[in-house]
Amino acid sequence: MQENKNSVKEEIEELRKILEEHNYNYYVLDNPTVSDFEYDSLMKRLSLLEEENPEFKNENSPTQRVGGEALSEFEKVEHTIQMQSLADVFSEGELNDFLARVKSSLEGEEPEYVVELKIDGLSVSLEYENGVFMRGSTRGDGFIGEDITQNLKTIKSIPLKLDTDIEYLEVRGEVFMPKDSFLKLNESRELEGESLFANPRNAAAGSLRQLDSKITAKRKLDIFIFNIQQIRGKEFETHKESLEFLKGLGFKISPTLNVFKDSKDIFNEINRIGEEREKLSFDIDGAVVKVNSLRQREILGSTSKVPKWAAAYKFPAEQKETILLDIALQVGRTGVITPNAVLEPVRIAGSTVSRATLHNIDNITDKDIRIGDTVVIQKAGDIIPEIVRVIKEKRTGNEKVFSMPSVCPACGEPLYREENEAAVRCLNSNCPKQQLRAIIHFASRDAMDIDGLGPAIVNQLLEDKLIEDAADLYTLKYEELINVERFADKSAKNLITAIDASRERGLDRLLFALGIRLIGSRGAKLIAQNFKSIDNVMNAEEESISEINEIGGKMANSIVHYFKDEKSQRLIEKLKSAGVKCTYDNENVGNIFEGKTFVLTGTLPNLKRNDAKKLIEENGGKVSGSVSKKTDYVVAGEEAGSKLEKATSLGVAIISEGELLNMIK
Ligand code: NAD
Repeated sequence: MQENKNSVKEEIEELRKILEEHNYNYYVLDNPTVSDFEYDSLMKRLSLLEEENPEFKNENSPTQRVGGEALSEFEKVEHTIQMQSLADVFSEGELNDFLARVKSSLEGEEPEYVVELKIDGLSVSLEYENGVFMRGSTRGDGFIGEDITQNLKTIKSIPLKLDTDIEYLEVRGEVFMPKDSFLKLNESRELEGESLFANPRNAAAGSLRQLDSKITAKRKLDIFIFNIQQIRGKEFETHKESLEFLKGLGFKISPTLNVFKDSKDIFNEINRIGEEREKLSFDIDGAVVKVNSLRQREILGSTSKVPKWAAAYKFPAEQKETILLDIALQVGRTGVITPNAVLEPVRIAGSTVSRATLHNIDNITDKDIRIGDTVVIQKAGDIIPEIVRVIKEKRTGNEKVFSMPSVCPACGEPLYREENEAAVRCLNSNCPKQQLRAIIHFASRDAMDIDGLGPAIVNQLLEDKLIEDAADLYTLKYEELINVERFADKSAKNLITAIDASRERGLDRLLFALGIRLIGSRGAKLIAQNFKSIDNVMNAEEESISEINEIGGKMANSIVHYFKDEKSQRLIEKLKSAGVKCTYDNENVGNIFEGKTFVLTGTLPNLKRNDAKKLIEENGGKVSGSVSKKTDYVVAGEEAGSKLEKATSLGVAIISEGELLNMIK
């Protein structure tokens, strides 16, 4: 029993950690790494475990808090009325449970409900004083948001002046990016070689949280207003009435706003919205069911995170049918051959999809996927879409069974498959596709961080035979670059400067940049800290490498294997003679914060939030988004808010930026 409890506790803690990380990526970086479907499933599992094991409940759990956080780059806005989230329901059964809860809390009164579109965007508050738009802010953690007034002013559908004598009005709405603007934005980003936004929601969030409102202005954002947060000098009886009043003032409100009493009618309306979803010019991720009477809302109240008078019905992960046109093989930098589905383009979950991963040959065989098949794809579990199943009834007999070729599609050398491994590999380290991917990885941000050296340029340099491997980058000359397509005086000079700067990155980054199998950036750092120079790493025995905490036997074996190869040895020699730093000499950067968790809050005097995070992580510490008993230090700057209070109440050590820097010294 006790053992069971321990494993539940561990699972709860693990889920909280994972969800915090996803919250950070989604709300702070506007760059989610998993689909909303997967996030929601994890959240549901955590809620269930906490419900079943109330002794592990914790007010800091992601189930109890709004997930966002205000960036220190913006002025803070304290919300006098908390900007809450919404409770989710995923089925008719769960919806009925919600309706029953409401009814029982209202002691049998039969409430009316409005059903609105759940716009997939970013929540904002707009404040008006005597009819003049005075301030706009993001939700942040619900209590403190970011002042983004200037950026909001660029949205044409936000009235700057209202024809009213109302002294003070605060409304809440959802800023979104219409689907076609999103597609155009990503197209032009692709042309410019910039990273793509995962979906319109993240594009809207990224566009609104710009320090330069000229960029926001170019992004074609729009807004729907869905609530009055505060109003002085006017009263309403129902939500619908209040929204119609806002419409009269010139606000854009939810395009559907029908009132129902019966649970069947509510569910039918949700289904109707679901069917219309594709035709809308903007993304929705569900429908919101809200009690219409404002008096009843008062009675129902809210939890620390969500109102008890509303529920968001989330539509299931979207699935679509399309045709598998072909299976293309991609050669990775370690030689792994990945089969990818080439699909007839289809719009799904906010973007047009024409590729999906097929993972490996076993997956293709198990699902009996054939070229020409009609397949069902879904965006779930990952941002990358996948094939869920084949619709065999639609086969015509012309479909082709796929088999892995026996030779590499890029170099023609034989392919190998190791026992117990799903992956098929090309072992030829001279394979041109492997070279290309290896150099792209070498130059990438967490590796040698060569600014401006993207995939297209690496490809061009290889085609023009100016480079053969990563070390050749360091002997490239301006006179050579200037003759390459895509280069002009400035871009050639910039690239030479960027390559030059990368010489000094140090052993940890270099080891990661070499792309040794199983060695990620953390492993590379641990090895660099232990061995201090590339010569020591190259001479190390497998046993001594695997003695390092966190470095397993397979990783150690991979290192030894890599450096045994004469080609790797030649590459290292070339890098050394090109003056690339092959040592790790910063004694202080290391693991002084090993096992310690930090939380950053407020505006630090010198360091930007991301720099402080990097510094802590470089020294072995972790940065979390919320304060709990497990937090070791809260680094507080000016205008620190609820996190500081929380730290004080829990007795967590509070330090300043200066103290943090002193600890590192
Ligand atoms: P939510 O998006 O599920 O619902 C609350 C929000 O809905 C409100 O803040 C409001 O702004 C918005 N909304 C849109 N239309 C509305 C309307 N008509 N009436 C009322 N509100 C309306 O909750 P959340 O807390 O903003 O975000 C949680 C969700 O975000 C998750 O369920 C998940 O889908 C997604 N998420 C994904 C990741 C990821 O890594 N993929 C990470 C964090 C969150």
